[in-house]
Amino acid sequence: MPRPIQATIDLQALRHNLALIQATAPDALVWGVVKANAYGHGIERVFDALRAADGIALLDLSEAERVRQLGWRGPILLLEGVFETRDLELCSRLNLWHVVHCEAQIDMLAVHKTHQGHRVFLKINTGMNRLGFAPQAFRAAWTRLNALPQVDEISIMSHFSDADTDKGIAAAMSVFHEYTHDLSGERSLSNSAATLRHAKDLKVRSDWVRPGIALYGSSPDHPENTADQWGLKPVMSLNAAIIGVQHLQAGDSVGYGSLFVANRPMRIGVVACGYADGYPRHAPTGTPVCVDGIRTRTLGRVSMDMITVDITDLPHADRGSEVTLWGQPQKTNQPSVGVSIDEVARAAGTVGYELMCALAARVPVTVLGTL
Ligand SMILES: *Cc1c(COP(=O)(O)O)cnc(C)c1O
Repeated sequence: MPRPIQATIDLQALRHNLALIQATAPDALVWGVVKANAYGHGIERVFDALRAADGIALLDLSEAERVRQLGWRGPILLLEGVFETRDLELCSRLNLWHVVHCEAQIDMLAVHKTHQGHRVFLKINTGMNRLGFAPQAFRAAWTRLNALPQVDEISIMSHFSDADTDKGIAAAMSVFHEYTHDLSGERSLSNSAATLRHAKDLKVRSDWVRPGIALYGSSPDHPENTADQWGLKPVMSLNAAIIGVQHLQAGDSVGYGSLFVANRPMRIGVVACGYADGYPRHAPTGTPVCVDGIRTRTLGRVSMDMITVDITDLPHADRGSEVTLWGQPQKTNQPSVGVSIDEVARAAGTVGYELMCALAARVPVTVLGTL
């Protein structure tokens, strides 16, 4: 028998989340963001559920090739654009749309030999200060691009630094408006947080939204709003089993560093999941887990292949019991609230994004909800 750990990817949940985004931004087209191998879910695994998106956005040219190999003929957007001139050949050949965020990328386009005009998304820096033209340089970049025979159509994009925080998007929107309002072209501004939180206060039209995390059922602004509150359903679940049971007396400790010490007699379950599976090592004692669909907590230090959980008050829990590290239990018949990946991430001082992206290759994955 293989080691009892399993990730499941629920395509019905992904279809639901995509439909929810579409309903939230009914006038916008949707880029399904699948960078980082679909946030750790696997591009090939989730592709079928993303057919209803209007385009696929990603970073790596190799990921773009994989999406074309899956038969996707619709738009594909390279969110960081090209890295060297040669990359433009693949853009021409596979008809990839690409972001242009700096002068060097315009230089590359200017020397690129192609008969097919490229569709580009010109990026303005509205305060994130990562990629994008400074507002004062934006018009010149647009004009220069617009004059190139290699360029077919220019869209305008930006990325918010604070769509998920109290600061919000007002300052960025006012920069965007001031420097782009009289330039033609489609607009793309919103990630998941902006789509869910600010759909109504975008002061410009939103032709394309770019949800990533919401598609996968994690909340972009947890804990202010939970995934449940947004109506998002978890796509990835991680379940393992109890493979050993220990009885502790008061004063006994568990695991490396004796980090947890029992103050009363306790029963603990040893679970076949550790940081080498992608469970965060920084998750402290008390991080929520479910055992047979009932919530309890982790104890002591997360080790490479195992964690320990408190089953003192769960007399039916035993070797073989299903342990839900995040997402939904797969075996129990009782209705369960499961464990949101955002709660686990928060306990470990990170975000759901990082946990899903870090699901380890050694964990077997089952896909549910294929049509
Ligand atoms: C990753 C990314 C997104 C998606 O962000 P989420 O927070 O996952 O919705 C959107 N736009 C750009 C430019 C990105 O890099």
